[in-house]
Amino acid sequence: MARREHSDIEAVGIRARIGEMFYASGLLPPLQKLRALVRDDLRILAYHRILDIPDTDAFEFDLELISADADGFRAQLGLLKRRFQPLPLGEMVDALVSGRRLPKNAVAVTFDDGYEDNYRVAYPILRELGVPATFFVSTGHIDSGQPFAYDWLVHMILRTGALRLKLPELNLDVPIPPSRSARRLFAADLLRHIKAFDSALQMAAIMRMEQEWDMPRSASSPDCRPMSWKQLREMHASGFEIGSHGVSHQMLAKLPDDRLHGELKQSKATLERELHVTAPFLAYPVGGDLAFDHRVINATKAAGYAAACSYVYGTNRRTSWNQFSLNRLPVEREMGTGWFAAMLTLPEFMGYPIKNLTTNISDTACSS
Ligand SMILES: [Zn+2]
Repeated sequence: MARREHSDIEAVGIRARIGEMFYASGLLPPLQKLRALVRDDLRILAYHRILDIPDTDAFEFDLELISADADGFRAQLGLLKRRFQPLPLGEMVDALVSGRRLPKNAVAVTFDDGYEDNYRVAYPILRELGVPATFFVSTGHIDSGQPFAYDWLVHMILRTGALRLKLPELNLDVPIPPSRSARRLFAADLLRHIKAFDSALQMAAIMRMEQEWDMPRSASSPDCRPMSWKQLREMHASGFEIGSHGVSHQMLAKLPDDRLHGELKQSKATLERELHVTAPFLAYPVGGDLAFDHRVINATKAAGYAAACSYVYGTNRRTSWNQFSLNRLPVEREMGTGWFAAMLTLPEFMGYPIKNLTTNISDTACSS
């Protein structure tokens, strides 16, 4: 675990420094022009949460879901307006489907999950600067107001007084490290481990932790609250797109057929009922290679969606784009404006280092 921690931090640090150097050098605008001559592609940014956290160590939820603080987000949007062409995702998809040309340097801004800070922090800044955005929300969480399961898992690991994590159904019986920083890494490893299992096992394991450690999700927390329908209606009335992120934020590829179809159809119907519009877009929950496949794509088409975003890193070339597997560029908390600008300009080289999908949490585990 320590080795990966070190190499991850090193890779992030190196890329941040290179990004800032590129930005300060003034080379990015000419490189952007040069790249546009040889590469005709569309960029879609993926955000989760926009939040100011004065003390990151004291924050009791998943820091990896914080994409930027308010000032950083404002600076990123400023750069988008100066150097790129922000467009609604719907306009981008319509143009791709119809073959219509889009402005060079088109960028769409998207948000996943539906955290309350999207309304409280991101929405006023987007509106003030006139940048369009699409918010993908998990409708069951908007209905219930309950925190997201994966974020609650991180919360439980950070807060528990238990000394060991025992989840025999996931082949885990491991000590929980004492320090908060070590627990964050442990929780990140646990998330990667758990996401390899089918959805029912994942949810059963999380619910068991809630019960055994007496930390029910229903206890909720102001730091991990979803938006309300009232807030989403206001955002939609202001011109922002609201799309589906499933009902209960489960990995669709890990669900049996009936549950898969239920998540897709029910979330779409709920959005249409609550917002009185068609909801043509989906972002696959989790969204990486493990989260969607051909079966999920076929079910997405059958449920009536016009396009779907993945969480696979990359841009979308006009010649080879897939409207049911749109690549995105995730924005991460460690990105300053320089790195952000460098990623948008040179996405092939300047993305956030891909997180290791394998896990070593079970290296020390005892099989049940
Ligand atoms: Zn999500």
